[in-house]
Amino acid sequence: MTHAALLLAVLAMAVADVRGQDVIPQPEKQETGKGFFVLSRNTAFVSNLKRQDAQAFKGMVDALRAQSSAPQTENTVIKLISEHRRGKAWEDVGLQSYRLTVSPDSVVARAPTTTGLFYALQTLGQLADNGRIACTRIADRPRFKYRGLMLDCSRHFWSPAFIKKQIDAMARLKLNRLHLHLVDGGGWRLEIKKYPQLTREGAYRTHSDWDEWIENGRKFCRKDTPGAYGGYYTQKEMRELVAYARAKHIVVIPEIEMPGHSNEVLHAFPELSCTGKGNGFDLCVGNPKTFTFLTDVLKEVMEIFPSEHIHIGGDEATMLYWKKCPKCMGLFRDRHFTDTLQIQSFLIGRIDSFLTARGRKMIGWDEILDSTRLSPSSVVMSWRGERGGIAAAKAGHHTVISPSRYYYLDHFQASPATEPKAIGGFSPLERVYYYDPVPAELRHTPAADRIDGVQGNLWTEYIADERQAEYMLYPRLFAIAESGWGTKTSYDRFVSRLQTILPRMGAEGYNYRAPDSDSLQQKRDQEFTVLQWNIWQEGTLIPGGYDAIVNEIDRLSPDFVTLSEVRNYHGSDFTRRLCQSLKARGKTYYSFRTDDSGLLSRYPLKDSVAVFPLNKDHGSVYKLTAQLGAHEIAVYTAHLDYLDCAYYNVRGYDGFTWKETERPTSVGEVLRLNDLSWRDNAARCFLNEARHDLEAGRMVIFGGDFNEPSHLDWTEATAYLYDHHGMVVPWTVSTLLERNGFTDGYRKVYPDVLSYPGFTYPCHNPAADITKLTWAPKADERERIDFIYYQGDNLFAIDAKLFGTGSSIVRSKAVGDRSADPIILPSGTWPTDHKGVWMKFRIKNK
Ligand SMILES: [Zn+2]
Repeated sequence: MTHAALLLAVLAMAVADVRGQDVIPQPEKQETGKGFFVLSRNTAFVSNLKRQDAQAFKGMVDALRAQSSAPQTENTVIKLISEHRRGKAWEDVGLQSYRLTVSPDSVVARAPTTTGLFYALQTLGQLADNGRIACTRIADRPRFKYRGLMLDCSRHFWSPAFIKKQIDAMARLKLNRLHLHLVDGGGWRLEIKKYPQLTREGAYRTHSDWDEWIENGRKFCRKDTPGAYGGYYTQKEMRELVAYARAKHIVVIPEIEMPGHSNEVLHAFPELSCTGKGNGFDLCVGNPKTFTFLTDVLKEVMEIFPSEHIHIGGDEATMLYWKKCPKCMGLFRDRHFTDTLQIQSFLIGRIDSFLTARGRKMIGWDEILDSTRLSPSSVVMSWRGERGGIAAAKAGHHTVISPSRYYYLDHFQASPATEPKAIGGFSPLERVYYYDPVPAELRHTPAADRIDGVQGNLWTEYIADERQAEYMLYPRLFAIAESGWGTKTSYDRFVSRLQTILPRMGAEGYNYRAPDSDSLQQKRDQEFTVLQWNIWQEGTLIPGGYDAIVNEIDRLSPDFVTLSEVRNYHGSDFTRRLCQSLKARGKTYYSFRTDDSGLLSRYPLKDSVAVFPLNKDHGSVYKLTAQLGAHEIAVYTAHLDYLDCAYYNVRGYDGFTWKETERPTSVGEVLRLNDLSWRDNAARCFLNEARHDLEAGRMVIFGGDFNEPSHLDWTEATAYLYDHHGMVVPWTVSTLLERNGFTDGYRKVYPDVLSYPGFTYPCHNPAADITKLTWAPKADERERIDFIYYQGDNLFAIDAKLFGTGSSIVRSKAVGDRSADPIILPSGTWPTDHKGVWMKFRIKNK
């Protein structure tokens, strides 16, 4: 290598060393040139802007120059050229565009509006590395006009200074909407001159810690009470914040939540509750004073916030007291409503008209879609997955996409074992980054144009302080900003760009979570096993039954056990007793007290819920949640109603008395008989609860003795087998589960119903009197009534086996199973009259 060539190589390395590419959001088009521009105190500023704008931009350029420690070099110039196009920049992505050319002696930015020029300067700020900017040419514009962040100021009160700091970060990411969740059950945060009681009585509470506060009765107090936690924004402070954001091309959208989440209002104004005593969470919609109150508040809100959009919440009303309230029921009758939901729709509809008449547009959470009177200009913010957004866009409404499982920034970003307390969920950076805000169903349809953009939401029940808030925001907000800008790269390249931008933010005093360098650790596939087992009255009908149950669980060591026929005889707590017996053998299991159906987990319980508690022998459903590495799982156990079993009627036995009876002649009759049971009610309660788990990103397992066959087993192929008597029956529970996205694990692994019938009942047990093992002594009553259902992203059923003796009872005789069903045989005494179902699942990570 010659001396000159060596010198060139060194120069080339120096140039490469200047960050020329690391911009977030990634510009739409970017070419990198040779050489670099040096910012120094000699750099001139030229623009064709009007005086006030020119001053503001000169201030920004001065701030950039101040960061440069570069020596004074030859004269260089920064030129900002506005093309002075008219229009609302925040409404039009074209008006937010800019072109930026950096050459060794000049930086030239052109844009149709000052917003575009502002974005050009943000890009320049990210490109500048100690005063040097690599030569480049950029043409850039966003994909979506709405790119937002929501900050929950109710559950936690954020100081104006903190909000300004986040506005600065948002501006850098070219975000343009700050949605402030100003009022909620955690406290009222905005001064309302007409109703000073709101902030006097509803802005401070007795505990800052969310759980402690709830455990102590959700009490509010006045500011001067010792230990009072809270605060509020005066109208003056809020106007300042709005102006501060506006200077950074960010619109502040206020949210006044109604009619649910309003316990702080009811505390200040008990007369606005249905009982008149402040009970519940919802405003009384039947009381005309509620409407006067809300419109008075909104009038003041509109004076403070010039935002075209006013957010009115509209989510999660409990509707608990409406059904018992004479005023709400009066409204219900007068308006000829047929459904309590219409009470909510009525209020939302009236508020919508009120705002629309004043030139504003209502925006609300996707529940507002339930309103029949929604004006076309209303915007729907889709948080319950994508369905709300899809329905809204198809119905002609503009929509902001903010699905909880991707864009809720209060969710965990890695294994909870290593993370600060969070509300739950799992939204790691990579998942947030790869989410496409246009739902697949809408792509390439006109409705896709009604997706206005994206928003990340920081709910703050479990955000303790400012550092934690920033830790949850950054860098996930970067990922959302880039999705909103529409220029995503590979995740690895995104992380590489973060590596240069985040440390700089850290130096400026922001907290953030460093992207995982050991993400492979998290990415390892994880497996777990589940056993569904009906233990026939806790094994008490077989000598040595209890010990057999303990032996088998010890032997199989499933991660989760869903038990049916937990009886807690003599006031005992059966699953607790099981855990103690297993502990004595060195196996740690966790449980909680249930009746009729029980749960065991090898993982500590994060939560437990009685979903459908046992009621007069009509079955039960319980759930636990646990953490498996980086994943959260909800495991449900069910023992569904054993009465009104119409599959016995098909065999000539009454499904309630088990006496011989005439067989039904039509499928309709079978379903009518079956509908007398409570099985469908329990399944619906399960589905309502499980929806929340799925929204939060949890995997869901549902094991149980359903006391009802599956429509997947009563097909044309089996119509003349096992005494089905020609019937093809769409059994209720299995159909309901399938329609709601749940998969029958055993049938998934073994779709061939003829070779793998999978019968779980009646199971022959040599230790029991055969007459006790049959309900239909003259029939072939073999059924698969024990199931393990599942649903969840990247969750796969990889193995399934029956568990029990290898024979069944047919017409009161033991018959060896000749099917291909794989079976785990007992190690000793078999304690029950059912077979169990054992399954293995795998959680795959991309
Ligand atoms: Zn009422």
